[in-house]
Amino acid sequence: MNLLIMGRPGAGKGTQAFNIRDYYKIPHISTGDMFREAIKNETKLGLLAKSYMDKGLLVPDEVTIGIVKERLSQADCKKGFLLDGFPRTIAQAEALDVILNENGVKLDAVLDINVQPEILIRRMVGRRVCKSCGATYHVEFNAPKVQGICDICGSELIQRKDDTEETGRNRLAVYDSNTAPLLEYYKNQNILKTVNGDQPLEKVFDDIKVVLGA
Ligand SMILES: [Zn+2]
Repeated sequence: MNLLIMGRPGAGKGTQAFNIRDYYKIPHISTGDMFREAIKNETKLGLLAKSYMDKGLLVPDEVTIGIVKERLSQADCKKGFLLDGFPRTIAQAEALDVILNENGVKLDAVLDINVQPEILIRRMVGRRVCKSCGATYHVEFNAPKVQGICDICGSELIQRKDDTEETGRNRLAVYDSNTAPLLEYYKNQNILKTVNGDQPLEKVFDDIKVVLGA
């Protein structure tokens, strides 16, 4: 099973990616891990990518695509894979189709873990974290026993700087404008599977299994 997983920031994509990896026994290929591995192993493309990153520059598409190609040609991808974080653009999606075509395979499904922006904002704005032990809470959905105080260690709960409504709305707007064409691209290929992400995590995964038909 060759899969791609997508979802707005905060939609729970990471949790479901781990569920899919463990249940279907396929490697989870996230862009971040893939870059770290290529750099650690000092592959030619890894070093090239690093030279851009060290200068604070965006890694060019052909380098990223080359790294994806190397990763997908490894033995553990023969029985399938779950891509996460790539492709991000139509150009990358087309390049991926070429790579898969060369390997004689194709994407079987693109999972979109869908949660409406308003719900994500509400989840994010209410998030609190303990400044000493890192435990996380939510003022509405997972409130501490005493407001503003960690149940575990008694320290003060704070709101992360990134967890403001403005930051969240910006992040979501950027994500949606980048991703909309990609969702359309896969919808036209009839492989886009939208899953309702606004449910308990186990239920989301049950729905994933249903849409994947296994
Ligand atoms: Zn604490």
